[in-house]
Amino acid sequence: MAKKRKYRPESLMMSHGYKPELSEGAVKCPIFQTSTFGFKTAEEGKAFFEVAYGKRDLRPKEETGLIYSRINNPDLEILENRLCLWDEAEDGAVFESGMAAISTTVLELLQPGDLLLHSEPLYGGTDHFFKNVLKKYGINTVGFMPDQSKEEILRVIESTGMAGKLAMIYVESPANPTNDLFDLEMCAALAQTYSRRNGRKVITAIDNTFLGPVFSHPLKHGFDLVLYSATKYIGGHSDVIAGACVGSAVLMKRIKSFRSIMGTMASPNTGWLLMRSLETLKMRMTTQAENAAVVARWLSKHPKVEKVYYPGLLKAGSPQHRIFRRQCLGPGAMISFDVKGGMKKAFKVLNSLQLVKLAVSLGSTESLAEHPYTMTHFPVDEALKQKMSITPKMIRLSVGVEHPEDIIADVAQALDRA
Ligand code: PLP
Repeated sequence: MAKKRKYRPESLMMSHGYKPELSEGAVKCPIFQTSTFGFKTAEEGKAFFEVAYGKRDLRPKEETGLIYSRINNPDLEILENRLCLWDEAEDGAVFESGMAAISTTVLELLQPGDLLLHSEPLYGGTDHFFKNVLKKYGINTVGFMPDQSKEEILRVIESTGMAGKLAMIYVESPANPTNDLFDLEMCAALAQTYSRRNGRKVITAIDNTFLGPVFSHPLKHGFDLVLYSATKYIGGHSDVIAGACVGSAVLMKRIKSFRSIMGTMASPNTGWLLMRSLETLKMRMTTQAENAAVVARWLSKHPKVEKVYYPGLLKAGSPQHRIFRRQCLGPGAMISFDVKGGMKKAFKVLNSLQLVKLAVSLGSTESLAEHPYTMTHFPVDEALKQKMSITPKMIRLSVGVEHPEDIIADVAQALDRA
């Protein structure tokens, strides 16, 4: 008998998990625009609820039943199965926004008194959630920097006086907007050390929005959970807000139960839109990354550009470059750069763009540019922004699928005007 071929994720994005015979033979998964699902019998409804609420596991050959679209829906389940393929995850959950994915996951896994260790910088919304909202629930947070060694991070944890309560290590890598990389294997080893010491598993979670799911697979580097703003590359067309989390079946079961209670699941329409987007994910991300490489090289030689923040330009042999070589499959398509002359000049560049849109968000087919200091990272503490080089002269550019020479021509004329 011929050996069953293991297809690559991009080959399965059009079909995986969908059975046309259950939908009148439709080749594409329809939008299951329904809030509720009919049970064949009351006994069947009872059995579905027993499994959904974790009272018992599925019996052999038994399948999870559809109940109510806050609990499950075919558009979400099929999408989750497809997302898992990229990260080789056991299970996944989709949410109505990236922030819903992050907040639901963190609130489910942490409790009052716990300590959350996180990388700096963080996307502004995450920064606000960690430093302001979690405090209200008695959850403590402490940050560490990209250039800190394992020993220095250990000292950061110990200096809180709450090392015995360390419950989660959360990183954003590459960090938004500086593209700083964090050593995932080192973080996973730290989590193991404290899991042994504290007698409780310290969970590792990463925001993989910038490079995932095509160019970075953190589960392979010992991480437990991978989070996404699916609004970005996964959605890819600036027409949907969504989020995702993938990881082990044990953790995802808890996160999905909490999602049902919080009501932070994605809608059937969002699920359908993301399935459509996943079909072209690899193509889009590959083209965007190719374009970004050309644009970043050009920017790095421009006389009005002071510095370019982009993983593809890291100095060979530097600590950041070693991390890049170990854990990234490509540099992605996010570039930040400092314009000589500060905010006035940076604003002039942004105001002069014609093809590239002046807007926050990223990962879409069209190129987008924004000013992190006054926009996406507005809520971040001023001293921290300065320390992390998020200054008034920085512009963040999300490179799209346009012709790279057209992107360069637009940025060139904007820089000329500054
Ligand atoms: N994580 C990163 C790295 C982001 O850039 C964003 C949004 O810009 C988020 C999370 C939040 O995602 P959403 O806007 O989908 O809630």
